[in-house]
Amino acid sequence: MDLYVILGVDRSASATELKRAYRRLARKYHPNINPGDRETEAVFRRVTEAYEILVDPERRQDYDAHGLPASRAPEGGIEFEGFDFSGAPRGDAASSFGDLFAEVIAESGGRRRPEDGPAVDLHAALQITFEQAMRGGVHEVTVTRVAACDACGGVGARRVAESRCASCAGAGHSRWMRGHMVFSRRCAECGGTGRRRHRPCGVCRAEGVLSRIEAIAVPVPAGVTGGTRLRVPGAGNAGSRGGPTGDLYVTVSVDPHPLFRREGDDLHLVLPVAVHEAALGARMEVPAVGAPARVRIPPGTQSGQRFRLRDRGAPSPRTGAPGDLIVEVRIVLPRVLDERSKELMRQLAENSTEDVRAGLW
Ligand SMILES: [Zn+2]
Ligand SMILES: [Zn+2]
Repeated sequence: MDLYVILGVDRSASATELKRAYRRLARKYHPNINPGDRETEAVFRRVTEAYEILVDPERRQDYDAHGLPASRAPEGGIEFEGFDFSGAPRGDAASSFGDLFAEVIAESGGRRRPEDGPAVDLHAALQITFEQAMRGGVHEVTVTRVAACDACGGVGARRVAESRCASCAGAGHSRWMRGHMVFSRRCAECGGTGRRRHRPCGVCRAEGVLSRIEAIAVPVPAGVTGGTRLRVPGAGNAGSRGGPTGDLYVTVSVDPHPLFRREGDDLHLVLPVAVHEAALGARMEVPAVGAPARVRIPPGTQSGQRFRLRDRGAPSPRTGAPGDLIVEVRIVLPRVLDERSKELMRQLAENSTEDVRAGLW
């Protein structure tokens, strides 16, 4: 494109006229005035290049004689090629410039957003029983995840015999005019080569990824507590167009147990004990993680007294080291006493010298 046409000046324009023309254009197309507009940026770059060449007498002379050196290849995206005033009166074109440009921007949909793809991490919930939490092991969660397309191996395209690009008719770029401005854009279908070796994958609509339901194995550490968030690396959504695959985060909830209450890695258990067992002492089995545990109740045990069974609690989900089982005695009186039991109680009362409320009030 002619540099004089780009600046909208005559070939005989003076340095002052060049400067005035450049200022006028810069006020409209400077990137600071139109942040993020790639089309405006392209115009401003070309206008600045044209001005820099023409304002330098030596370079201007060289340009007038030989034209521009071999132009650099566009890097892709929209390139502003210049203004084409053929067939339009100069004055009219100069005044409607900004309006035309506004039209172009509006038609092209403005700035394109960067392709950052969908959020790649996935989240799921896993509910397990208390016993399952104590044992640990592998559980499955079902998720709808975006995974690489099997048909094209995640590429989004399948190889075909080389052919001319239908989108740009082999030109490698498309060209269009708006008013007096000529734009070109590198062909996205063939990447500017004008040739096609692939066609878009029909299975995934060229996305390279598909959404599908999958069962994901989740390793659960023994002793896991409710609310724990487990991470399964690489089980999230696949990034579109070769983006990295995300992780799956599984939030565990553990059903409460009817007998055990967990405090850290210690388990608490209320142990009902009969009067005679508490008075005379007893040995018994209590439920515990894995196998039942043996407890010895010494003679004269009081209600509320606690016994700690080392290492019989829940395994630590981090270290695997078990906590303790804490057994709290609750003395249970018989509900109904037969005549013989009542007689024994009376004898006990006669025999008893201890005041159980001594010193309390
Ligand atoms: Zn595919
Ligand atoms: Zn093409």
